[in-house]
Amino acid sequence: MTPSRETLPALLELQGVDSQLLTTLARAKELQSSERVAALMTRRTRAIAAARELDAGQRAAQDAVARAEAKVSEIQTRIDRDTERLNTGGTSKDLMGIQHQIDTLLAQRGRAEEEQLSAMDHAEEVAADRERKQPLLRAADAEARAAVAERDAELTRLREEHARLGAERSRLAAGIADAPLLERYDRLRTARGGGRIAVARWENGTCGACGTRLSPADAAALEATPDSAVPQCPECSAMLVL
Ligand SMILES: [Zn+2]
Repeated sequence: MTPSRETLPALLELQGVDSQLLTTLARAKELQSSERVAALMTRRTRAIAAARELDAGQRAAQDAVARAEAKVSEIQTRIDRDTERLNTGGTSKDLMGIQHQIDTLLAQRGRAEEEQLSAMDHAEEVAADRERKQPLLRAADAEARAAVAERDAELTRLREEHARLGAERSRLAAGIADAPLLERYDRLRTARGGGRIAVARWENGTCGACGTRLSPADAAALEATPDSAVPQCPECSAMLVL
C-alpha cells in the first residue's frame, strides 16, 4: 500500500474536525441573523415607545387635574373675598352689585368643578389603562433581553468551540506528512464554493460523502483501484477509505 492510502484514515479524522468547524460557523451565522431575535427586538422597541406614550399621557392627565383644581380654588378665593365684603355692609346698590358678582362666581365655580371631576375621571381611566398595559410592555422588553442574552451566550460557546476545533485541526494537519495528499484534500474540500466532504468511508456499496450507491460495475472498479492510487468516488470525487 502506498503512503497516500495509509494516510487516508488520518484525513478522515481531519475531515471530521473540518465538518464540525463548518457546522459551528453555520450555526453562528444562523444565530446572528436570527429572525426570532430581530422580531423580539422590534417588538421591544415598540413597547418602549408605547410605555413612553403612556407615561406622557398620564402626566398630561395629572396636569389637567391640577389645573382644574387651581381654577376651582381661585374662584373660591374670589367668592370668599366678595362674601367678606358683603358682610362688612355698604349701600344697598353696592351690596346688590357684590351679590350679583358672587352669583356669577358661584356659577363659574359649578362649571369649574364639573371640569375638575371630568379631568379626574379621565386621569383615572388613563392610569387604569397604563396599569393594564405596562405588564405586557415589560414582558416584551424582558423577553427580547432574554433572547439576546441567550443568543450571545450561545455565540460565545460557538466561538470557544470554533477555537478548540481550530487548534485540533492544526494539530491533526501537522501530523500528516504527505503534503501533496493534504493539498489534494483541501482542494477537494474547498472546490465549488467549499464545504464539501473530501474524504469518506466506502461502506455497503455507498459513498459516505455523497451517499451515492454505486452500480455493481462501478463498485467493482472502485474496489479494484490499484494500491498506487487513491480510490475516488466516481460521482463526487471524494477520496474513499475502503
Ligand atoms: Zn461520492
